[in-house]
Amino acid sequence: MARKQVIGNWKMHGSIGQIRSVLSEVSRAELGANVSVCVAYPYLGLAKTLLKDTAVQVGAQDVCEFHIGAYTGEVSAAMLADVGCELVIVGHSERRRYFGETSETAARKVRATLDAGLLPVYCVGETAEQRESGIAHQVIAEELQVLAGVPTSLYAVAYEPSWAVGTGVIATPEQIAEMHAFIKQTLDARTRVLYGGSVKASNTAQVLAVDGVDGVLVGGAALSASEFLEICRIAG
Ligand code: PEP
Repeated sequence: MARKQVIGNWKMHGSIGQIRSVLSEVSRAELGANVSVCVAYPYLGLAKTLLKDTAVQVGAQDVCEFHIGAYTGEVSAAMLADVGCELVIVGHSERRRYFGETSETAARKVRATLDAGLLPVYCVGETAEQRESGIAHQVIAEELQVLAGVPTSLYAVAYEPSWAVGTGVIATPEQIAEMHAFIKQTLDARTRVLYGGSVKASNTAQVLAVDGVDGVLVGGAALSASEFLEICRIAG
């Protein structure tokens, strides 16, 4: 199996002690640049320092849509680049659900991320209700539509059905295969598409074996060094 991408999303978890402990182990594992960790803003510098002798990349979980100016509390893509970030998760379902982020806002964040030379990882996914009412494809198509005109080689997509994020309920291989095929068909067959939603070490091999899966976006399981390293080992 070719090497697949693994992105760990720490969400609003962690402390100096926990990040030091987990990333010190990660730094000793001789991982490649296919592995990234996205810690909360205050810990980005610490993550860079701990991973400085490795190929592991460091990313942010969000970014401001504006480039510079009087936007109190915000963090620009240029600032993320300045502290050594290489990627940014954009449009995560938790940003959409709890902070009212729309696809339009997320698309502006994708463009701001690209302007700073970083890789945007654009998240799409349907809710359980949307899937049950048969509109999952329409929802995903609308979420992708906002990126029209952006070359697909410049970003990655994460398919994260919100009913699978942080719930312990993972999408079936059939559901994953079908939606990844739909995303690649809608955008471009070469678009990198990751799956996210309750991925852990015990189901990683099964997810990565699904046709069209180029990697995994991992939340909860990224907080444990042994669990995360096992996922990275399976990814190659
Ligand atoms: C995520 O944070 O994007 C995610 C998929 O979380 P979890 O792996 O915990 O479901």
